[in-house]
Amino acid sequence: MKAAVFHRPGNISVDTVDDPKLEKDTDLILKVTSTAICGSDLHIYDGFFPQPKPQVLGHEFMGIVEETGKAITHLKKGDRVVVPFPISCGSCYFCQHSMPVHCEHSNPEHYGPEGDMMKGKGGGLYGYTDLYGGYSGGQAEYVRVMYGNINPRKVPDHLSDEQVLFLTDIFPTGWSAIDWGRLQGGETVAIFGSGPVGLMAQKAAWLQGAGRVIAVDPLNYRLDKARLVNKVETINPHETDAVEAIRAMTGGRGADVCVDAVGTEAERSFFDKVKAVINVEKGTAKVMEQCFEAVRRGGVVSVVGVYGSPYDNFPIHRIFDKGLILQFGQAPVQKYIDKLLGLIEQEQVVLDDIISHQLPLSEAAHAYDIFKHKEDDCVKVILKP
Ligand code: NAD
Ligand code: ZN
Ligand code: ZN
Repeated sequence: MKAAVFHRPGNISVDTVDDPKLEKDTDLILKVTSTAICGSDLHIYDGFFPQPKPQVLGHEFMGIVEETGKAITHLKKGDRVVVPFPISCGSCYFCQHSMPVHCEHSNPEHYGPEGDMMKGKGGGLYGYTDLYGGYSGGQAEYVRVMYGNINPRKVPDHLSDEQVLFLTDIFPTGWSAIDWGRLQGGETVAIFGSGPVGLMAQKAAWLQGAGRVIAVDPLNYRLDKARLVNKVETINPHETDAVEAIRAMTGGRGADVCVDAVGTEAERSFFDKVKAVINVEKGTAKVMEQCFEAVRRGGVVSVVGVYGSPYDNFPIHRIFDKGLILQFGQAPVQKYIDKLLGLIEQEQVVLDDIISHQLPLSEAAHAYDIFKHKEDDCVKVILKP
């Protein structure tokens, strides 16, 4: 079959690789009909998360069940499903407690309590380096899906792939960020990053009762998109100091909830880069730090942008003095996905309005290139195998 294979940083090609096979009775083989490229894939593409050998990427995918293992009772050949990105066994402590990303069974070789950059990671992820299980991902014609009775969700025929594909990751991720913000109704939510995850958090903020939603991003075309599809207020930090602007918009108090939907690969100045070298840090934590500044006292900071290394001078003093509530991490997709599919079916939310490019899988290398370099007004790319 054909698949998008990561070879080394900046190098992805569409190669012929072996077809996936059923390895366990609870596996199924999916014929992929649509798959997306995520900001998280860029961390591998950039070399931020090292992957020493070639790997088929892709953790956002859906398709048609092609073959089922002997123990699959919930699905049959021909069923059309979306697949959450965390691989959940359904039976361990964490899966039983709605924390599928920490599954104790799906990443046997590298699982551990440490949560370190290079060891002791959480549960398995599709197409996300050897540290997260080394599983082939879904930017391919076919993919092996694990725990087939637990994870895939059937989707109704009348909904297109584009309408439901983002249930695999970015909509539940945006939803988590806002859910962690504990809105009561009417709050001001400031979302740093207006890429696919930030755009989904904007949608989730309105759905969960925000009174005001503010998007921050240095790319004007992404702010244009945010205003167009989500009717939010916008701030470009190249034009105005984002923290000061958020304070000014909230009577000096700060936003009730700040979301970091950027992560460690935020754009960096020369000074940021020098500081990272001196402190032996990877990337930067500056967006998270801006969230601590822009949020009101006693407010919530939700961090869904990815961080992978320790940082010196972490502003713990500010967090303490302001009495902030923080929640970080990968999204527990399985916790929310059924409710969120319901919102799509009830036409309470539209997700496909963020798609900027639909390309054949054969153009994956070009797709990565434009998504990484924010060219051609790229916001979210869907690949069709
Ligand atoms: P993306 O790269 O398309 O979007 C990031 C956006 O941040 C860009 O629009 C960029 O211009 C903006 N940005 C850069 N520097 C900024 C700054 N200083 N202030 C404000 N905005 C800034 O990626 P994405 O797909 O939207 O993903 C965003 C982050 O979320 C990534 O770190 C990704 O790995 C992570 N992610 C996390 C989860 C999870 O489960 N927690 C799931 C999916 C993605
Ligand atoms: Zn993703
Ligand atoms: Zn588990």
